[in-house]
Amino acid sequence: MVTQFEFATAARVMFGAGTAAQLGAVAAGLGSRALVVTGSDQRRASLAGARVDGEVWVVRGEPTVADVEAGVAFARGHGCDVVVAIGGGSAIDAGKAIAALLTNEGPALDYLEVIGRGRALVHAAAPVIAVPTTAGTGSEVTRNAVLTAEGVKVSLRSAGMLPRVAVVDPLLTLSLPPTITADTGLDALTQCLEPLVCNKAGPITDALAREGLTRAARSLRRAVTHGDDVAARTDMCVASLCGGMALANAGLGAVHGFAGPIGGMFPAPHGAVCARLLPEVMTVNVAALRARAPDSEGLARYAEVARILTGEARATIADGIRWVRDVVAELGVRALSDHGVTAADLPGLVARGRRASSMRGNPIALTDDELLAVLTAAL
Ligand code: NAD
Repeated sequence: MVTQFEFATAARVMFGAGTAAQLGAVAAGLGSRALVVTGSDQRRASLAGARVDGEVWVVRGEPTVADVEAGVAFARGHGCDVVVAIGGGSAIDAGKAIAALLTNEGPALDYLEVIGRGRALVHAAAPVIAVPTTAGTGSEVTRNAVLTAEGVKVSLRSAGMLPRVAVVDPLLTLSLPPTITADTGLDALTQCLEPLVCNKAGPITDALAREGLTRAARSLRRAVTHGDDVAARTDMCVASLCGGMALANAGLGAVHGFAGPIGGMFPAPHGAVCARLLPEVMTVNVAALRARAPDSEGLARYAEVARILTGEARATIADGIRWVRDVVAELGVRALSDHGVTAADLPGLVARGRRASSMRGNPIALTDDELLAVLTAAL
C-alpha cells in the first residue's frame, strides 16, 4: 500500500438532519447570483433551496455534454457566479461541470478524458455548493463530473472542481423509493469497498472506507425496507460521503472500470450496474490474487472486508462474497442482460473497461479472459 499520498476534499462539509435550511445563507456568502441546478423533480430542490435566490436550471437524467454546455450559456446569460447543485449524482455532476466551464473558456470536449483532448482546466471552477438527495455517489466531495457523450461516460476532472461546500441533509433522502435507495446505496457500498482493496489505498482513505462500509453494511437493508428510518438514512449518507472522499483520493477498481462503459452504452442506473458486478469482481480478483500474488495485502484486505460486512470476527473471504451475493439478490438487483447487454457486447466492453481510469486501481491487473469472466457471470 502507498507510503506517499495526498488528500483533498470539499472545503467545508455540513452534515445533519435539517442542515439544508442553512443553504440560502451559505450561498449568499459565496456569490452574488446563484444558478440552482436540479434534477427533474423541482419540488425537492425547492424544499432544500427554499431560501436560495437564483436562477433554476433543470437537468433530466444523467447529464450529457450538450446539457452542460446549455447550462453554461444560461448561467453566463444570467450573470450567475455560484452554483447550488441539489439532487442525485446526476444533478450534482451537472452543476460541477457547469461551474468548471463557467470559468474556463472553450467547449467541454477540450477538457474531457478519453473522448476529448483532456486539457487541464486552467482556472478553479466557480464555487459549488453540493446538496445530495440520494445516498450513493459521494459526488458532493469528489473532483470529477461524469458526463455522457458519443455513447461513453467520461469525466471532467480537476482538483479545482471540488465543491466549496457539501451540505448533506439525510432528511432530503427520505423520499427515495426502495429501488433507487437500493441502487444508490449499493453504489455507496461499492465506493467504500473498492478503495479499501485498491492498489492506491492509503491510511486516511482506509479509515473513511472502513467507516462507510460498516455503516452501509448495517443500514442498507433497513433504508430500503423502512425508508422513513432517519438513523438508517443517516448511516447511508455517511457511507456515501465516506465513499466519495475515499474514491477521490485512493481510486476504485474493476467494478467502476466496467460501470462507465456499460452506463454509456445502455440506459442502466449506475448503482444497479455496480452492484451486479461487485460479487463477480470480488470472486475473480480473489482467484487472481491467490494465483499470482498470494502474499499481497489484497487478500488480507478482502478478509477484512468480509469481517466488516458480516460483523463476524471469524468471517472468511468466501463469507464476504456470499454476503454481497445475498444482499444483491435480496434487493432484486437486475442482471446486465435486463438492461440490454448481450453476449456479443462483452468483448467490446472488455476493451473499453481496460482503458477506463478506474481499472488502474484494481488490486491486481486482470487478463482479458478474467475480465470477460466477470461480465459473463454478471450477464
Ligand atoms: P441520479 O442522480 O441519476 O438519480 C436517480 C433518480 O432518483 C432520478 O430519477 C432522480 O430524479 C431521483 N431522485 C433523486 N433524489 C431523490 C429523492 N430524494 N427522492 C426521490 N427521487 C429522487 O442517481 P445517482 O445514483 O445519485 O447519480 C448517478 C450519476 O452520478 C451517474 O451519472 C454516475 O455516473 C454519477 N457518479 C458520479 C460520481 C462522482 O464522483 N462525480 C460518483 C459516482 C457516480
